[in-house]
Amino acid sequence: MPTAYDVVVIGAGTGGYVAAIRASQLGKKVAVVEKQKALGGTCLIWGCIPTKALLEHAHALKVIREAREWGVMIPYGAPAIDMKQVQARKDKIVGGLTKGVEFLFKKNKIDWIKGTARLKGRGKVEVFEGDKQTLEAREVIVATGSSPRSVPAVQIDHQRIITSDEAIHLKAVPKSLVIMGSGAVGVEFASIYRRFGSDVTIIELLPRLVPVEDEAVSAELEKSFKKQGITVLTGTKVTSASASADGVTIEAQSADGTSHTISAELLLVATGRGPVTTGLGAEELGIAMENGYIKVDEMYRTSVPNVSAIGDVITLGAGVHPQLAHVSSMEGVIVAERLAGKDVQPLNYDHVPGCTYCDPEIGSVGLTESEARQRGYDVRVGQFPFGVLGRAKMAGESEGFVKIVAEKKYDEVLGVHMIGPRSTELIAEGVLALRLECTVEELIKTIHAHPTFSEAVAEAAHATHGAAIHM
Ligand SMILES: Cc1cc2nc3c(=O)[nH]c(=O)nc-3n(C[C@H](O)[C@H](O)[C@H](O)COP(=O)(O)OP(=O)(O)OC[C@H]3O[C@@H](n4cnc5c(N)ncnc54)[C@H](O)[C@@H]3O)c2cc1C
Repeated sequence: MPTAYDVVVIGAGTGGYVAAIRASQLGKKVAVVEKQKALGGTCLIWGCIPTKALLEHAHALKVIREAREWGVMIPYGAPAIDMKQVQARKDKIVGGLTKGVEFLFKKNKIDWIKGTARLKGRGKVEVFEGDKQTLEAREVIVATGSSPRSVPAVQIDHQRIITSDEAIHLKAVPKSLVIMGSGAVGVEFASIYRRFGSDVTIIELLPRLVPVEDEAVSAELEKSFKKQGITVLTGTKVTSASASADGVTIEAQSADGTSHTISAELLLVATGRGPVTTGLGAEELGIAMENGYIKVDEMYRTSVPNVSAIGDVITLGAGVHPQLAHVSSMEGVIVAERLAGKDVQPLNYDHVPGCTYCDPEIGSVGLTESEARQRGYDVRVGQFPFGVLGRAKMAGESEGFVKIVAEKKYDEVLGVHMIGPRSTELIAEGVLALRLECTVEELIKTIHAHPTFSEAVAEAAHATHGAAIHM
């Protein structure tokens, strides 16, 4: 294997592997150093793919439990979950996809160097564990991603006090599960394990679930979670958690002064993820950092020439950088194209879709109603419930709504927020609407097929103009 490359990428997550493929497509000689035994990073191995596979299992169980309503007779007893088979199917899906990335590396003649790398002076990447060697690189892309982190009051022991890394591998359904944090990871696991049969309590420090979403979406999710039997404690701080052989005892304090002592089989800490930069040699090379994240400009250049960084490991300085697979991949494409001399434009982070695959699903893009008001827009909103749609009735999934946030003067769509069936798919229309600076009128004039869930988007647009047809 050669040791000199045009581009060396550190980390083969959705940021790194996509950057590598794009750079190779554009004629660069590329190597990727990855320390795991498989390619694909957090998304494929511990994140997007395994969690969504588990959610599909939970959904299958839900449908089968309602078999009688569907006129499907199940002759022997009540349906139950077989975790061995669930895990086997999930692992097969993960394995297939990571192998797929390996295939793409071969197809694009990308060298996968198996090991752990650090930056070792200008244009040098040292693989110090695994296939030990020093690579020479005209350009380096750091894509080392993130890992779970806790809060000072709670020590993760990976047995009773766990992270998402363990929650995807559980061999048995826990009788009771407390989840700390109600971001995407927290609410997705709440949906999975509640459907599988656990007693689930979700504790959120802020006053509402999924705090980054529109307030109406948070309220709808809380309503649905309570209906499903999930205990929701918002505005509540976990003050301690102590693990024993049988379980974990959690102390928490609500904003109104109420104290809670909760015993559970497991505590899942889903309070966010921090950057993976320890031992990377970034600081030694003089790369500017902020709270452990690598600081980059809008073209993902670090403060050191010929070193770029993308994905979960970066900060752009202002605002929170979204830790999402599709964001890291898009950043990877931009960097690869910039390095190949293409004309590239900065990403508009207001146009990043957020998808949360809890039950009911959430899809959102652009400004929430309160963000739009804070930015001084003269706002109008329209909302349409899925429950009115024929297609939603047929699917037996009538919770939730689509909400459009627009401004009055030019009628421009500023945000689309939805909770309910297929929201993580339907949001693509909202993303395009924002990208093309669509007006609400243009959404109304766009023909939406009948009967589909997408009619809720058209109806929400009508509602924004004060006149939904079917309501
Ligand atoms: C439970 C969960 C569910 C998620 N679900 C979604 C979802 O549905 N949709 C979505 O968009 N996002 C989701 N995410 C977030 C998504 O997984 C991340 O945003 C994405 O993986 C970030 O990609 P990345 O390439 O920046 O980093 P990562 O995927 O973390 O990849 C970094 C890679 O670098 C390697 N590495 C690190 N240091 C070194 C080193 N020194 N040498 C060699 N290799 C190294 C690591 O082994 C890893 O493979 C989820 C995350 C979690 C935890």
